[in-house]
Amino acid sequence: MSISAVKGFRDGLGPAACVSRQIEDAAAGVLRGYGFDEIRLPILERTELFARAIGETTDIVEKEMYTFEDRDGTLITLRPEGTASVVRALVEHHLDQKDPITRLYYTGPMFRHERPQKGRHRQFYQVGAELFGREDPLADAEVLACARDVLDAVGVRGARMLINSLGDGACRPAYRDALQAWGIARRDRLCKNCARRVDKNPLRLLDCKDPKCREATADAPLLKDHLCGECDDHFARVRSLLDALGVAYEVDPRLVRGLDYYVRTTFEITADGLGAVAAVGAGGRYDGLVAQLGGPKISGIGFAFGVDRLALALEAAQPGAEDRAAESLAPAVFIAVLGADAEAEALALARKLRRLGTRVELDGGRSLKSLMRRADRLGAGRVLIVGEEEVAARRGTLRDMIEKRDDKLAVDFDLDGEALLLAVGVEP
Ligand code: AMP
Repeated sequence: MSISAVKGFRDGLGPAACVSRQIEDAAAGVLRGYGFDEIRLPILERTELFARAIGETTDIVEKEMYTFEDRDGTLITLRPEGTASVVRALVEHHLDQKDPITRLYYTGPMFRHERPQKGRHRQFYQVGAELFGREDPLADAEVLACARDVLDAVGVRGARMLINSLGDGACRPAYRDALQAWGIARRDRLCKNCARRVDKNPLRLLDCKDPKCREATADAPLLKDHLCGECDDHFARVRSLLDALGVAYEVDPRLVRGLDYYVRTTFEITADGLGAVAAVGAGGRYDGLVAQLGGPKISGIGFAFGVDRLALALEAAQPGAEDRAAESLAPAVFIAVLGADAEAEALALARKLRRLGTRVELDGGRSLKSLMRRADRLGAGRVLIVGEEEVAARRGTLRDMIEKRDDKLAVDFDLDGEALLLAVGVEP
């Protein structure tokens, strides 16, 4: 019996893998331009890192983590997100001592035990960035502009960037208490989940997806009316910088992140084409997190995009991404090897072309007819035939697959570099 992949875990094949790679490369290109250096993070971390960073009462930590005991008894977890690991690395390597400002980006798989559906998988890919050591609104505006530039570089048009301010230690506690008292007084009208979490995590009342619960909290007090002067100024400055830059956003006063360490600017990016899940990315400021994980008091702000969801949004914005990727996977040259005596010559030629950056498919051991059928199926632009006669003449025969015409002994085996590319008809 054959063995299938675990539920919620998928293989990224051919064109789909190609699209994911293009998205990651496009995003990484933007991030490098913004001064972020790559950090290659471990997939496994100690469980307590996520418990402390993400919070014990969040869905992720309560029910979505892949946690198990290592052979020595240590509790370890497959990372459900990247920020906690980046902060751990910052603290562990004292990165702030080299430069008080640190910019890091990462890409790679994350793991959450969620119910699989369109755009929601148990292993999914993220590209994320974190900026440490800057508290000023300029940093927030820069990070938001960067997120918008990632969307543009990937080719996702029409995405909405929702932003909000969550206040800080000066203004949020009083608001939180007010919202909690408001929610407890209406507990019987809240959904089961919110009726429970109003005690521990009242801010989450605002982003509940249950329609009835949303209705029940339609007139809940909002943080925007409770911000302290400093938070209000900070948020106003972020918005005016974005306005000046022409970066589109919408203020969503119900946008929250349920964790205590999130402060001030928070955001979520939504796009069409994602089915029931709408977010392609999210982020925010988390000035308390580094200290919470045992590091110095340094502020941080960052975001993470879901690569799988960016792919869905890209498909909605510009249909045919996978078809275009499939085209790019077609070999530029297909070398058809006829007979054992031609093998060494054909392999050398293929290697020369490949080292020049050309995608070459090499195939033999069958009739020319069957090799041609395969070259056709792969969408190869041209076929280079290397048989007995070609080896004797040290020149290959070039077949134009569109015109179905042979140019006998057209490619001199001793050519190299640009001359070889021109001879086989590949753009140097
Ligand atoms: P979060 O860390 O929950 O804010 O997630 C950041 C982004 O990762 C989301 O906006 C999604 O694009 C993506 N994401 C989160 N969970 C999943 C999942 N289970 N499957 C696919 N993408 C996800």
